Amino acid sequence: MRLVTISDLEQPQHTKSLLIERAMQLGKWYHEFKKTDTEGYEYTVRIGGDRTRKPGIHASEISRCSRLLTYSVRGEQRIATESNHADANMRMRFSLGNAVHAMVQNEMRRMCARLGGAVSFHDEVKISWELGGVAAQWGVDSSCDGVFVFWIEVDGEALPYLRVGFEIKTKSGPEFEKLVKPDDDHMEQTCLYMAALDLPLMWVFYYNKSNSNWTSSEPPWLFQFDRHLWETTLQPRFGAVHQNAQTGELPPRQEGRHCGWCPYSWTCKPAILTAPQRGPSPVLKNPGALRVLR
Ligand code: SF4
Repeated sequence: MRLVTISDLEQPQHTKSLLIERAMQLGKWYHEFKKTDTEGYEYTVRIGGDRTRKPGIHASEISRCSRLLTYSVRGEQRIATESNHADANMRMRFSLGNAVHAMVQNEMRRMCARLGGAVSFHDEVKISWELGGVAAQWGVDSSCDGVFVFWIEVDGEALPYLRVGFEIKTKSGPEFEKLVKPDDDHMEQTCLYMAALDLPLMWVFYYNKSNSNWTSSEPPWLFQFDRHLWETTLQPRFGAVHQNAQTGELPPRQEGRHCGWCPYSWTCKPAILTAPQRGPSPVLKNPGALRVLR
Protein backbone atom coordinates (compact mmCIF):
# COMPACT_ATOMS: atom_id res chain seq x y z
CA MET A 1 0.00 0.00 0.00
CA ARG A 2 1.63 3.26 -1.10
CA LEU A 3 0.82 6.79 -2.19
CA VAL A 4 4.15 8.11 -3.36
CA THR A 5 3.49 9.36 -6.90
CA ILE A 6 0.61 10.92 -8.81
CA SER A 7 -0.08 7.63 -10.60
CA ASP A 8 -0.57 6.00 -7.17
CA LEU A 9 -3.77 8.05 -6.89
CA GLU A 10 -5.30 5.52 -9.34
CA GLN A 11 -5.88 2.87 -6.68
CA PRO A 12 -9.01 1.60 -4.95
CA GLN A 13 -10.62 4.29 -2.81
CA HIS A 14 -10.45 2.24 0.40
CA THR A 15 -6.64 1.87 0.35
CA LYS A 16 -6.15 5.46 -0.81
CA SER A 17 -8.36 6.73 2.01
CA LEU A 18 -6.28 4.92 4.62
CA LEU A 19 -3.15 6.63 3.33
CA ILE A 20 -4.79 10.05 3.13
CA GLU A 21 -5.96 9.64 6.73
CA ARG A 22 -2.36 8.93 7.65
CA ALA A 23 -1.27 12.16 5.93
CA MET A 24 -3.98 14.03 7.86
CA GLN A 25 -2.14 13.14 11.10
CA LEU A 26 0.62 15.65 10.28
CA GLY A 27 -1.26 18.60 11.76
CA LYS A 28 -2.03 16.69 14.97
CA TRP A 29 1.64 15.72 15.33
CA TYR A 30 2.63 19.33 14.81
CA HIS A 31 0.18 20.51 17.46
CA GLU A 32 1.50 17.94 19.95
CA PHE A 33 5.07 18.87 19.09
CA LYS A 34 4.45 22.57 19.78
CA LYS A 35 2.96 21.80 23.20
CA THR A 36 6.34 20.49 24.33
CA ASP A 37 8.66 22.59 22.15
CA THR A 38 10.53 24.14 25.05
CA GLU A 39 14.19 23.45 24.19
CA GLY A 40 16.44 26.11 22.69
CA TYR A 41 16.98 26.23 18.93
CA GLU A 42 17.96 28.59 16.16
CA TYR A 43 17.26 28.89 12.47
CA THR A 44 18.46 30.93 9.52
CA VAL A 45 16.27 32.98 7.19
CA ARG A 46 17.54 32.96 3.60
CA ILE A 47 16.18 35.38 1.04
CA GLY A 48 17.29 34.70 -2.52
CA GLY A 49 16.39 38.07 -4.01
CA ASP A 50 14.96 38.84 -7.44
CA ARG A 51 18.28 39.12 -9.25
CA THR A 52 19.32 35.56 -8.46
CA ARG A 53 16.26 34.14 -10.19
CA LYS A 54 17.11 32.27 -13.36
CA PRO A 55 15.16 32.69 -16.60
CA GLY A 56 12.14 30.40 -16.73
CA ILE A 57 8.86 29.73 -15.00
CA HIS A 58 8.75 30.47 -11.27
CA ALA A 59 5.80 28.88 -9.50
CA SER A 60 4.99 31.93 -7.37
CA GLU A 61 4.58 34.06 -10.53
CA ILE A 62 2.34 31.87 -12.69
CA SER A 63 -1.01 33.39 -11.66
CA ARG A 64 -0.17 37.08 -11.72
CA CYS A 65 0.42 38.28 -15.26
CA SER A 66 1.26 36.38 -18.47
CA ARG A 67 3.39 39.29 -19.64
CA LEU A 68 5.61 38.91 -16.55
CA LEU A 69 5.91 35.18 -17.25
CA THR A 70 6.90 35.91 -20.84
CA TYR A 71 9.64 38.33 -19.73
CA SER A 72 10.91 35.68 -17.33
CA VAL A 73 10.93 32.85 -19.88
CA ARG A 74 12.82 34.95 -22.42
CA GLY A 75 15.42 35.87 -19.78
CA GLU A 76 14.79 39.61 -19.56
CA GLN A 77 16.87 41.30 -16.87
CA ARG A 78 15.22 41.54 -13.44
CA ILE A 79 15.59 45.00 -11.94
CA ALA A 80 14.05 46.20 -8.70
CA THR A 81 11.12 48.58 -9.14
CA GLU A 82 12.23 52.23 -9.03
CA SER A 83 12.09 53.39 -5.43
CA ASN A 84 9.46 56.04 -6.11
CA HIS A 85 7.13 53.34 -7.53
CA ALA A 86 8.08 50.44 -5.26
CA ASP A 87 5.61 49.00 -2.77
CA ALA A 88 7.56 49.21 0.50
CA ASN A 89 4.70 47.79 2.55
CA MET A 90 4.55 44.67 0.39
CA ARG A 91 8.30 44.19 0.72
CA MET A 92 7.91 44.29 4.49
CA ARG A 93 5.18 41.67 4.26
CA PHE A 94 7.48 39.48 2.14
CA SER A 95 10.21 39.82 4.79
CA LEU A 96 7.85 38.71 7.54
CA GLY A 97 6.54 35.87 5.35
CA ASN A 98 10.10 34.64 4.74
CA ALA A 99 10.81 34.64 8.47
CA VAL A 100 7.65 32.60 9.18
CA HIS A 101 8.64 30.16 6.42
CA ALA A 102 12.02 29.54 8.03
CA MET A 103 10.43 29.16 11.47
CA VAL A 104 7.81 26.62 10.35
CA GLN A 105 10.27 24.65 8.22
CA ASN A 106 12.58 24.41 11.23
CA GLU A 107 9.68 23.23 13.40
CA MET A 108 8.63 20.58 10.90
CA ARG A 109 12.20 19.28 10.72
CA ARG A 110 12.40 19.02 14.51
CA MET A 111 8.91 17.48 14.73
CA CYS A 112 9.92 14.74 12.27
CA ALA A 113 13.17 14.14 14.16
CA ARG A 114 11.04 13.35 17.23
CA LEU A 115 9.05 10.79 15.20
CA GLY A 116 12.16 8.62 15.13
CA GLY A 117 12.58 8.14 11.39
CA ALA A 118 8.95 7.26 10.61
CA VAL A 119 8.55 10.54 8.70
CA SER A 120 11.20 12.84 7.24
CA PHE A 121 10.84 16.48 6.22
CA HIS A 122 12.81 17.93 3.31
CA ASP A 123 12.66 21.70 3.00
CA GLU A 124 13.20 23.91 -0.07
CA VAL A 125 12.94 21.03 -2.53
CA LYS A 126 14.49 22.36 -5.71
CA ILE A 127 12.73 22.19 -9.05
CA SER A 128 14.89 22.88 -12.11
CA TRP A 129 15.43 21.49 -15.61
CA GLU A 130 17.90 18.90 -14.20
CA LEU A 131 14.87 17.18 -12.65
CA GLY A 132 13.63 16.30 -16.15
CA GLY A 133 9.94 15.71 -16.87
CA VAL A 134 7.61 18.66 -16.38
CA ALA A 135 10.40 20.90 -15.02
CA ALA A 136 12.52 20.40 -18.13
CA GLN A 137 9.55 20.58 -20.50
CA TRP A 138 8.44 24.01 -19.28
CA GLY A 139 11.75 25.38 -17.97
CA VAL A 140 10.64 25.59 -14.34
CA ASP A 141 13.00 27.05 -11.73
CA SER A 142 11.44 27.06 -8.26
CA SER A 143 11.46 25.34 -4.93
CA CYS A 144 8.67 23.80 -2.93
CA ASP A 145 8.62 24.77 0.77
CA GLY A 146 8.79 21.14 1.81
CA VAL A 147 7.99 17.48 1.26
CA PHE A 148 7.08 14.96 3.98
CA VAL A 149 8.10 11.37 3.29
CA PHE A 150 6.61 8.53 5.36
CA TRP A 151 8.82 5.43 5.68
CA ILE A 152 8.21 1.76 6.34
CA GLU A 153 10.83 -0.91 7.02
CA VAL A 154 10.67 -3.96 4.75
CA ASP A 155 13.29 -6.70 5.22
CA GLY A 156 15.56 -4.26 7.01
CA GLU A 157 15.26 -1.63 4.28
CA ALA A 158 13.45 1.71 4.72
CA LEU A 159 11.01 2.32 1.86
CA PRO A 160 8.82 5.40 1.24
CA TYR A 161 5.09 4.66 1.27
CA LEU A 162 3.56 8.18 1.37
CA ARG A 163 4.67 11.63 0.14
CA VAL A 164 2.99 14.95 0.95
CA GLY A 165 4.04 18.35 -0.37
CA PHE A 166 4.00 21.30 2.02
CA GLU A 167 3.41 24.96 1.21
CA ILE A 168 3.48 27.76 3.80
CA LYS A 169 1.47 30.96 3.34
CA THR A 170 1.06 33.85 5.76
CA LYS A 171 -2.15 35.85 6.11
CA SER A 172 -3.26 38.84 8.13
CA GLY A 173 -5.94 38.09 10.73
CA PRO A 174 -8.88 39.38 8.63
CA GLU A 175 -7.62 37.56 5.49
CA PHE A 176 -7.17 34.33 7.45
CA GLU A 177 -10.70 34.50 8.86
CA LYS A 178 -12.13 34.86 5.34
CA LEU A 179 -10.42 31.68 4.08
CA VAL A 180 -12.72 28.75 3.30
CA LYS A 181 -10.30 26.94 0.97
CA PRO A 182 -6.83 27.59 -0.47
CA ASP A 183 -6.70 30.66 -2.72
CA ASP A 184 -6.91 30.00 -6.47
CA ASP A 185 -3.36 31.28 -7.13
CA HIS A 186 -2.02 29.02 -4.38
CA MET A 187 -3.84 26.05 -5.94
CA GLU A 188 -2.09 26.84 -9.23
CA GLN A 189 1.32 27.30 -7.60
CA THR A 190 1.07 24.02 -5.69
CA CYS A 191 -0.32 22.20 -8.74
CA LEU A 192 2.94 23.04 -10.53
CA TYR A 193 5.00 21.78 -7.58
CA MET A 194 3.00 18.55 -7.53
CA ALA A 195 3.35 17.97 -11.27
CA ALA A 196 7.10 18.68 -11.22
CA LEU A 197 7.86 16.64 -8.10
CA ASP A 198 5.29 13.91 -8.84
CA LEU A 199 3.54 14.53 -5.51
CA PRO A 200 0.10 12.95 -4.99
CA LEU A 201 -0.86 15.12 -1.98
CA MET A 202 -0.27 18.69 -0.79
CA TRP A 203 -0.89 20.49 2.51
CA VAL A 204 -1.23 24.27 2.32
CA PHE A 205 -0.39 25.64 5.75
CA TYR A 206 -1.85 29.15 6.15
CA TYR A 207 -0.39 30.95 9.16
CA ASN A 208 -2.37 33.76 10.79
CA LYS A 209 0.10 36.57 11.55
CA SER A 210 -2.25 38.08 14.14
CA ASN A 211 -2.85 35.13 16.45
CA SER A 212 -0.65 32.22 15.17
CA ASN A 213 -3.61 30.03 14.19
CA TRP A 214 -2.95 27.75 11.21
CA THR A 215 -4.83 25.51 8.80
CA SER A 216 -4.97 21.80 9.64
CA SER A 217 -3.73 18.96 7.46
CA GLU A 218 -7.30 18.04 6.56
CA PRO A 219 -9.35 18.92 3.47
CA PRO A 220 -9.61 21.45 1.94
CA TRP A 221 -6.07 22.38 3.09
CA LEU A 222 -4.85 18.88 2.26
CA PHE A 223 -5.74 17.85 -1.28
CA GLN A 224 -4.89 15.53 -4.15
CA PHE A 225 -3.18 16.50 -7.40
CA ASP A 226 -5.69 18.33 -9.61
CA ARG A 227 -5.13 16.83 -13.06
CA HIS A 228 -7.90 18.95 -14.59
CA LEU A 229 -6.27 22.20 -13.45
CA TRP A 230 -2.92 21.02 -14.74
CA GLU A 231 -4.09 19.85 -18.15
CA THR A 232 -6.73 22.45 -19.00
CA THR A 233 -5.30 25.62 -17.41
CA LEU A 234 -1.62 25.50 -16.51
CA GLN A 235 -0.12 23.53 -19.39
CA PRO A 236 -1.95 25.64 -22.02
CA ARG A 237 -0.82 28.83 -20.21
CA PHE A 238 2.81 27.69 -20.19
CA GLY A 239 2.52 26.69 -23.86
CA ALA A 240 1.26 30.17 -24.79
CA VAL A 241 3.98 31.86 -22.77
CA HIS A 242 6.73 29.84 -24.45
CA GLN A 243 5.18 30.59 -27.83
CA ASN A 244 5.18 34.32 -27.01
CA ALA A 245 8.77 34.17 -25.79
CA GLN A 246 9.81 32.61 -29.10
CA THR A 247 7.89 34.98 -31.37
CA GLY A 248 8.75 38.07 -29.30
CA GLU A 249 5.08 38.91 -28.87
CA LEU A 250 4.16 40.34 -25.47
CA PRO A 251 0.74 39.53 -24.02
CA PRO A 252 -1.37 42.46 -22.74
CA ARG A 253 -0.48 43.91 -19.35
CA GLN A 254 -2.46 42.53 -16.42
CA GLU A 255 -1.95 45.49 -14.14
CA GLY A 256 -2.56 45.53 -10.44
CA ARG A 257 -0.91 46.18 -7.12
CA HIS A 258 1.57 43.43 -8.03
CA CYS A 259 3.19 45.82 -10.55
CA GLY A 260 4.67 47.55 -7.49
CA TRP A 261 7.06 44.63 -6.97
CA CYS A 262 7.33 43.31 -10.54
CA PRO A 263 11.01 43.08 -11.61
CA TYR A 264 10.02 43.94 -15.19
CA SER A 265 8.14 47.17 -14.54
CA TRP A 266 11.25 49.05 -15.80
CA THR A 267 10.57 47.75 -19.32
CA CYS A 268 6.83 47.11 -19.15
CA LYS A 269 6.05 50.61 -17.80
CA PRO A 270 2.49 49.91 -16.62
CA ALA A 271 0.28 52.96 -16.28
CA ILE A 272 -0.74 51.99 -12.76
CA LEU A 273 2.69 52.89 -11.37
CA THR A 274 2.39 56.49 -12.47
CA ALA A 275 -1.33 56.90 -11.85
CA PRO A 276 -1.90 60.03 -9.69
CA GLN A 277 -4.42 58.28 -7.44
CA ARG A 278 -2.00 55.47 -6.55
CA GLY A 279 -0.06 57.22 -3.80
CA PRO A 280 2.42 55.62 -1.40
CA SER A 281 1.60 52.45 0.54
CA PRO A 282 0.65 53.01 4.15
CA VAL A 283 3.68 51.79 6.09
CA LEU A 284 3.67 54.02 9.13
CA LYS A 285 1.35 54.41 12.05
CA ASN A 286 -0.54 57.69 11.83
CA PRO A 287 2.02 60.28 12.98
CA GLY A 288 -0.76 61.85 15.06
CA ALA A 289 -0.02 59.13 17.61
CA LEU A 290 3.43 60.65 18.17
CA ARG A 291 2.28 64.17 19.00
CA VAL A 292 3.62 65.50 22.25
CA LEU A 293 0.86 66.22 24.74
CA ARG A 294 0.87 69.73 26.15
S1 SF4 B 1 4.65 45.53 -14.53
FE1 SF4 B 1 2.60 44.68 -14.16
S2 SF4 B 1 1.67 44.47 -16.17
FE2 SF4 B 1 3.88 44.68 -16.50
S3 SF4 B 1 4.70 42.64 -16.59
FE3 SF4 B 1 4.86 43.29 -14.49
S4 SF4 B 1 2.99 42.56 -13.49
FE4 SF4 B 1 2.64 42.50 -15.73
